[in-house]
Amino acid sequence: MLLIDAHLDLSMNALEWNRDLRAPIQEINDREKHLLDKPDRGNATVSLDELRKGNVGIVVATQIARYVAPDSTLPGWNSPEQAWAQTQGQLAYYKALERTGDLRPIRNRSELDDHLTQWEADGHTIGYILSLEGADSIISLEYLEIAYEFGLRALGPAHYGPGRYAQGTNAKGGMGARGRDLLHKMTDLQIILDATHLCDDSFWEAMEYHQGPVWASHQNCRALVDHNRQFSDEQLKEIISRGAVIGMPMDAWMMVPGWVRGESTPLNKNVTLNTLIDHLVHVCDLAGNTNHVGLGTDLDGGFGREQCPADIETIADLQKLPELLLKRGFSDDDIVKFCHQNWLDFLEKTWS
Ligand SMILES: [Zn+2]
Repeated sequence: MLLIDAHLDLSMNALEWNRDLRAPIQEINDREKHLLDKPDRGNATVSLDELRKGNVGIVVATQIARYVAPDSTLPGWNSPEQAWAQTQGQLAYYKALERTGDLRPIRNRSELDDHLTQWEADGHTIGYILSLEGADSIISLEYLEIAYEFGLRALGPAHYGPGRYAQGTNAKGGMGARGRDLLHKMTDLQIILDATHLCDDSFWEAMEYHQGPVWASHQNCRALVDHNRQFSDEQLKEIISRGAVIGMPMDAWMMVPGWVRGESTPLNKNVTLNTLIDHLVHVCDLAGNTNHVGLGTDLDGGFGREQCPADIETIADLQKLPELLLKRGFSDDDIVKFCHQNWLDFLEKTWS
């Protein structure tokens, strides 16, 4: 079954974790077993080979770099120009993987159709849609045009904390004039708004002003795990009414209540792919149909095997999902929609 994963921080892993994604997953993990700088060292689940083994033929691949004010305790860059340069390094990695034949850019409908044909034929070169997580690195709106020229097709205005264009997870406040100008420019360019990470104030302001396409690339349900990072039922219904697809992420703390980083384990909290299906079912119940859910795993997005479903050894294990969904009573048609068709329908509509 073809899978589409709408959120992977591939180049962040390459440049900040120093992971060679062209290497076997065992080698990636062996090379960092002695490192203690990050909690997920030696627990990587994503490599290009594992994506191929899992038939993950299309990914939404991120650029990500935050600007931080002098009083911030979050990691990030001290100026937007530095953040921009970081994202351009990340883009350079994707471009290098295009030259090795590992990645193929998907920027419009014809490239999407061509890629699906190619993937069917050889299952080797993975298609990627370029996305930006947090807009801080967009120095001015002129840079959004440059980013679009370079292939950017989706953008989440905020990440964790306060942002230059919108407020993110754990922050408060709206988007303001600068954020609204960003939304207008995104609509002009038909860049997809990724609503993920917007705090409640910024989310509702974005919904008031944004006229273009919206998705939530990696987003679980507040009704199941109560935290401001998750969307309330009202927020989920709002983006569903706008035709959004919501990608289900696999960071364990967003899947079950009461996760304590470093203490909880996937086994002692019984976090499995079935837990993810609980969130998926909740979104389908709100929508009244199965048209608005897909995968946005965020695997290796700052966490690894220590904090993802127990039945995920590598991202290739996503192929366990179709059978689990069948056992939960979904039809073959529904399963195809969750695995790839809902994302494809969204993209085909957006790029028609
Ligand atoms: Zn994220």
